[in-house]
Amino acid sequence: MNEHDSEKLGGLLEAEGYRATAMVEQADVILLNTCCIRAKADQKALSLLGRLKLLKTKRPELIIGLCGCLAQSQGAEILKRAPYTDLVLGTHNLHRLPQLLKQVLARKKPKLELVEYSAPLTAKPLPVSRNNPYSAWVTIMEGCDNYCAYCVVPYVRGRERSRPMRDILTEVRQLADGGVKEITLLGQNVNSYGKALDNEFGFPKLLEQLNQISGIARIRFVTSHPKDLSASLIKRMAELPKVCEHLHLPLQSGSDKVLAAMNRAYTQAEYLEKIQLLKEQIPRISLTTDIIVGFPGETEQDFEQTLTILKTVQFDNLFSFIYSDRPHTAASEFKAKIPRTVSRQRFQRLLKLQQEIAASRRKLMLGQPEEVLVEGPSKTDAAKLTGRTRGNKLIHFTGSSDLIGELIQLRIIAAGKNSFQGEVIS
Ligand code: SF4
Repeated sequence: MNEHDSEKLGGLLEAEGYRATAMVEQADVILLNTCCIRAKADQKALSLLGRLKLLKTKRPELIIGLCGCLAQSQGAEILKRAPYTDLVLGTHNLHRLPQLLKQVLARKKPKLELVEYSAPLTAKPLPVSRNNPYSAWVTIMEGCDNYCAYCVVPYVRGRERSRPMRDILTEVRQLADGGVKEITLLGQNVNSYGKALDNEFGFPKLLEQLNQISGIARIRFVTSHPKDLSASLIKRMAELPKVCEHLHLPLQSGSDKVLAAMNRAYTQAEYLEKIQLLKEQIPRISLTTDIIVGFPGETEQDFEQTLTILKTVQFDNLFSFIYSDRPHTAASEFKAKIPRTVSRQRFQRLLKLQQEIAASRRKLMLGQPEEVLVEGPSKTDAAKLTGRTRGNKLIHFTGSSDLIGELIQLRIIAAGKNSFQGEVIS
């Protein structure tokens, strides 16, 4: 979602006549769009903001802006530490960027522009600066009411709001008319789409409607909460041909005790039941997950239960994080913090196991035919093209540039660590 927000900030700047530059020293405006999901993300943003001070000293006319979740959560304090920042823009009012820039240029100095409440999602999509013309993100809902004990998102993205279905369908039809073939629906908890809307249907209905839009060949979505992944949604995923066989389903921990302390509202058995249903109904499904290591109170036995689930489910990939305290969250007050050295050791063990699982999963794909949406030249080898499978795997292959933007059939001939090599079948 942050990356999509960056596309919107880029689109708003382009609409004002600005152009992107790869040379940061030449920029007239530098916006840092920040994440604050972990302490490390905060530190990276603040360190970059610190380094930009030198540029600002050399060129006082340079405009520096801080946007996104860190801006929303700690904007006022950051302004005290980095008073050379020209504007601070929260997560609820990206659309205000052009006006704020004009005020900064007129030196009226709007240092801070945060909206403290959950503003409704605007019907009119903001302009978007997109690198990939065939694949697009579409926000369908924003915010979260779940209040997982470790998570700062409800405090920076606000309460859950869904966009009206008709607005989403209009946007996707326009994207299809513009040549987009793959959409990824975005929301902090897409499975609860539509809950707060009157006279609307939920997420399975939205998928059904999107599946009918001609020109769109693939539908993906992130992120799903296991508690809201219903049997009827799994059934629709299996039935709708455009919904890709890939699901990111954050587990976070394999221990019921830790899951309860995290306020995740499911047990390890309930999670595994849903995985079983997914595998039965969508045999080619590629599963990925998130794991937090070292949550307060996590014992060795708790951690081993997480490892056991990894072995049982066989995820294709996982995104793992060492727990860090986040402002406002319940877990930041929990006393039984895990020593950093213990968390690091567990993190390494988790990674090692997942590397073994991923390697064996990759071997299973060798020789298999795959549908690939060709994105463009490979970033690692300009003589090759790159595309993604329906299971969201990156494949490099030799082919004519006429194939860019097309859906083609490839056979996987080699597996690397992060990508595959393929050959064109048709
Ligand atoms: S459901 Fe996701 S976004 Fe919402 S509080 Fe939990 S982890 Fe954060």
